[in-house]
Amino acid sequence: ADGARVPALVIGTGYGGAVAALRLAEAGVDVHMLEMGMAWDVPGPDGKVFCNTREPDHRSYWLRTRTKAPVNYFIGLPLDRDIPRYTGILDAEEFGGITVYQGRGVGGGSLVNGGMAVTPRREDFGAVLPSVNPGEMYDVYYPRANAALGVGTVDPDWFESAACYQYTRVGRRHARRSGLPFVFVPDVYDWEYMEREAAGTATKSALAGEILYGNNHGKKSLQQTYLARARATGRVTVSALHRVASVAPASGGRYTVVVEQLDTGGGVTAVKSVTADRVFFAAGSVGTSKLLVKLKATGVLPLLNDEVGRDWGENGNVMCGRANHLWDPTGALQSAIPCGGIDNRASGRAFAEVAPLPTGIETFASFYLSITGNPHRARFSWNPVAGRVELDWQTAWKQPSIDMARSIFDRINAKEGTVYRSDLFGAYKIWGDHLTYHPLGGAVLNRATDGHGRLTAYPGLYVIDGALIPGNTTVNPFVTITALAERNIEKIIATDL
Ligand code: FAD
Repeated sequence: ADGARVPALVIGTGYGGAVAALRLAEAGVDVHMLEMGMAWDVPGPDGKVFCNTREPDHRSYWLRTRTKAPVNYFIGLPLDRDIPRYTGILDAEEFGGITVYQGRGVGGGSLVNGGMAVTPRREDFGAVLPSVNPGEMYDVYYPRANAALGVGTVDPDWFESAACYQYTRVGRRHARRSGLPFVFVPDVYDWEYMEREAAGTATKSALAGEILYGNNHGKKSLQQTYLARARATGRVTVSALHRVASVAPASGGRYTVVVEQLDTGGGVTAVKSVTADRVFFAAGSVGTSKLLVKLKATGVLPLLNDEVGRDWGENGNVMCGRANHLWDPTGALQSAIPCGGIDNRASGRAFAEVAPLPTGIETFASFYLSITGNPHRARFSWNPVAGRVELDWQTAWKQPSIDMARSIFDRINAKEGTVYRSDLFGAYKIWGDHLTYHPLGGAVLNRATDGHGRLTAYPGLYVIDGALIPGNTTVNPFVTITALAERNIEKIIATDL
């Protein structure tokens, strides 16, 4: 309520925020979470909470009047459609040179993502978080995060015969024929539930094309894991459709947090003010960076250091499709949850998920999301004339990602005698290089913050999300975001409370 005072306020309900809330509550601290997106706990008119990728409606996108599907063409035909403007679940946030996809709602990115839960190889960790002791991460915090998130792997025997993973088996065969290692990719989807979907004994979610706009069944999002445990402590409350606009120093070492309550059309219906002893920025890499850069530049938090806004990267994301021969169909039924990848990290700095095209028809396409070692880093800055935070990412900066991904797919195409698909991202466009699903950085650990996420100029302010990670995790990022949050909150609880 307006004028309230809380011991700990968490901005955002994604991975970092959910870890902070649970561990603070377990330590006896009352926590209030503010989330700009919706609660996603009430069914819509069709009886479902979430809409399907094949029939996107008002629930699909955050305040857009037209969908902006990541794969937006098929056989050269545009797929996007008009939708009513609504506080939908997926934000396709457009900056100058890149569209950044993010989840909006209680659960953050866990609501929309593919659930792929990958721990980086230990030998790569020094490049991911150079100031963090790998021993404690691999012995304590990665295992803690994987257990709490409910990470599992497809049953290899079931995989071999499942119709819905023919696309992955084709991807494996092509990788192996080119001498590239295939690996199973762990996921938080309930694999036994998926087996029941395939057997026809459970309501279909992954096997009905659900992903991107939410899964009505099967996927263990943060709503089922960390956030459920946090609420069960009785110490955590959550306000959805509440967007933080400002965090300013107040008397007694506390902070005044200004919050805008939104309606489902995106309008501000009330402006509230809350006083907090401690504030945790967990609005995601982009959300946290935007807040901190604006608050520093506008003189609200002028002592934040000059590292704020820097070292932002897109985890080297790039997508592509390959056209298969007619004797290599990938299947009309494709599980929306990937379960395998091609690992060329060692010689090509590329890790490619064998991704579905869950269109419901045979496409004769193999589709991939590659995570690459793109070295480019961008910076957020405040534009006082426009009154907004901008990002200086350049479109051409994806070229290293494309080159790294080609270390896999040029090789496979040469071996198989196949070509790239050029109809998935617009006419004659091979590479999906206009976007990222994996924004990272902007308030990097040990640079913008101290070694545990403290914004030291302002005691009681912390960053605890993907903003801490300098641009790349070599694999899908949420396990690392979760494990790092577990490490930092343990230290903060032990020393600051
Ligand atoms: P988020 O999860 O982004 O949470 C931040 C929350 O803060 C959001 O709910 C947001 O609405 C809220 N917020 C922002 N600003 C404000 C504000 N001012 N006031 C109040 N609330 C605010 N990663 C993987 O590891 N595996 C995958 O398979 C995978 N697939 C993905 C697929 C898609 C389509 C997308 C979009 C992402 C995917 N990711 C995946 C990435 C992963 O979801 C993110 O890395 C992760 O969610 C980031 O966690 P976070 O805690 O930093 O922030």
